[in-house]
Amino acid sequence: MPPRPTLARRLAAAALPACALAALATLALAPRAAAAQRDSARATAADSIKYRYPTDARLAALKAEAAKKIDERAKLIQEMVDQVFSYGELGFQEVETSKYLTGILEQNGFKVERGVAGIPTAFVARWGSGKPVISLGSDIDGIPQATSKPGVAYRDPITVQGAPGHGEGHNSGMPLNVAAALVVKEIMQREKLPGTLVLWPGVAEEQMAGKAFLVRAGVFKDVDVTLFTHVSNDLGVSWGQSSSNALISALFKFKGSSAHSAGAPWRGRSALDAVMMLGMGWDMKREHLELPQRSHYVIPDGGDQPNVVPSTASIWFYFRERDYPKTLALFEAAKTMAQGAAMLTNTQVDTIQMIGSGWSGHFNRPIAEAMYQNIQTVGMPAWDEKDQQLAKALQRELGSPDSGLSKRPGRLGGPVNEATRMGGGSDDIGDVSWNVPTITLRYPSNIPGTPGHNWANSIAMATPIAHKGVVAGAKVQAMTMLDILMTPQIVTDAWSYFNDVQTKTVKYKPFIAATDQPPIWLNADIMAQYRPEMRKYYYDAKKYRTYLEQLGVTYPTVKTPTVP
Ligand SMILES: [Zn+2]
Repeated sequence: MPPRPTLARRLAAAALPACALAALATLALAPRAAAAQRDSARATAADSIKYRYPTDARLAALKAEAAKKIDERAKLIQEMVDQVFSYGELGFQEVETSKYLTGILEQNGFKVERGVAGIPTAFVARWGSGKPVISLGSDIDGIPQATSKPGVAYRDPITVQGAPGHGEGHNSGMPLNVAAALVVKEIMQREKLPGTLVLWPGVAEEQMAGKAFLVRAGVFKDVDVTLFTHVSNDLGVSWGQSSSNALISALFKFKGSSAHSAGAPWRGRSALDAVMMLGMGWDMKREHLELPQRSHYVIPDGGDQPNVVPSTASIWFYFRERDYPKTLALFEAAKTMAQGAAMLTNTQVDTIQMIGSGWSGHFNRPIAEAMYQNIQTVGMPAWDEKDQQLAKALQRELGSPDSGLSKRPGRLGGPVNEATRMGGGSDDIGDVSWNVPTITLRYPSNIPGTPGHNWANSIAMATPIAHKGVVAGAKVQAMTMLDILMTPQIVTDAWSYFNDVQTKTVKYKPFIAATDQPPIWLNADIMAQYRPEMRKYYYDAKKYRTYLEQLGVTYPTVKTPTVP
């Protein structure tokens, strides 16, 4: 293998005129051409880059300096990633996480506003003045029952079975943003660059219940560009309509009448019966819905005990479809069905409450293309043998191909092909992306082949894999911020794309009504149950070099093959 060019050399290449750069990019892309061909179902206009910006020696030097300064903050990055990991807090209960992150930002001169949009754990941290206003966001909430020791390639709870944990890797995105912001702030101060940095957390992303409220509260009113980040197993960015689905999350509560389930069952009217009729009705309807939809439910209240006919019961749905009208149609159909379920069981619909929502994301082409250049410059982290050992052992544990960690950055993604679009997950960054030019930077802090929303997605997230991935991501983020600060044309183009292409025919209107309030009660009971035990395992960065050291985990801990 040829030696990897040093960052300085790659940056020097980035300072070449656009035509030379294009030639270089072609060379650099050659090994990926085959992969792109295999991937022809997703091959799009993204393969040709439309927006290129002239660069100069000063910008190239500042980018190289930013990357160096991120490396110098690797220890801070490790501490932040490990600290937030150890809190393992669920949506709306990110109390320690919020306190910790705002503390660091305040110490570094950011002005912090807490309790934004009526959400106690939401905040906005601002520094600087004037244009451009660059907002940096990332999610901070965890996954129920996902506790697992980092660095251990099989399930081994940190605290007690059932406790929440970072089974999505949301502990890493804000540390990435904080590191990038601190570095760029230093450069802006010295170079006297005008501009404002705005950091905000994605609260309760797993409930899709935070960002629409931030939008409504005006957090993005003066923002020029939003650089969102999300954990992944590659380093990449996309533009155009994403493949994600829009979503409405809604809680349906029924009211019946209790009675002795054996002594006088004929006097009871079971709210649980109504819940089950609605669930079964929806499962039948499923067959007659378009294929890209996703809908799923849980039953948070199914009654108290079998010998009491349940007088209350509730069912919680997520409805997902490609766009606003299609998603709303699913919700409306379920509302009608709920009335039917009540009639069938002689009960009543008590309340129907929308508790989360989000648009499908559409990402900005000029910013994504500028960022992609930086992705190619930074490249993937240099994984070592231990990182690969953990990754492969986990992949074998899960029955996934043991290909280890990715070594090459991802391609620049383009718009989804509407004709073959098959739906999928959601992220309420969609709402932000329809209000201000936005991109999502994916950074390589996790292991390929994991199921998502699972303990297995947490075990890399407080190890060198996560730390190195965040360092790489923070470099890309900081370099892109410098691009935006020093090349006003990017912001102009970003808004032209936003106004003339993205929102030309589709205009944002939120799913939430003006009267809807964020459901900040969510997860309070679960955290009350587990927090006292989890508190004993919060990372103490003063006493331990790493969280692995605090937990006494040898990195990596893998099952030794048994000899039959
Ligand atoms: Zn996520």
